[in-house]
Amino acid sequence: PSDREVLDWETFGRASREIAQAVVDSGFAPDVVVAVARGGLPPGGAIAYALGTKAVGTLNVEFYTGVDSRLPEPAVLPPLLDTSALRGTRALVVDDVADTGETLALVQRLIAEHCDEARTAVLYAKPRSVIDPDYVWRRTDRWITFPWSALDPVTPSA
Ligand code: 5GP
Repeated sequence: PSDREVLDWETFGRASREIAQAVVDSGFAPDVVVAVARGGLPPGGAIAYALGTKAVGTLNVEFYTGVDSRLPEPAVLPPLLDTSALRGTRALVVDDVADTGETLALVQRLIAEHCDEARTAVLYAKPRSVIDPDYVWRRTDRWITFPWSALDPVTPSA
């Protein structure tokens, strides 16, 4: 159905390589990749491999509880990132999508003062986002189905 933007695993792999290529071509060489959990974990890991960056951290932020149903504001959940470990680094913050952009804005606020430089990369950006990420693979205003959250969690086999 055309009210959804569907990303499959294979296209996700290509998108991750293309974002990494854009990062490298821009002259940015991140020391660390910060993946925003959970949606930023698959692209964060894939992009870190494509960049050859071994240092990967995660920041766990919850905002959405369903299709277009949100908490009042994004909240950081445990386990917490040790932001002091970011001192003196160039960080690439990776998330799946900047929708309202509130999640990335929060992450940038939390880490900006610790890093030398923090840039942001997303697979998708929506027009209403309050921040315009530095690296964007595609732009859409539709709800996106990602391969890692397309199915319900598994349940015990009968
Ligand atoms: P934001 O703070 O930019 O509004 O979005 C935060 C998070 O909500 C995203 O990282 C993502 O996990 C989830 N989200 C927002 N828009 C979509 C969407 O279109 N599809 C899916 N599957 N998740 C979304």
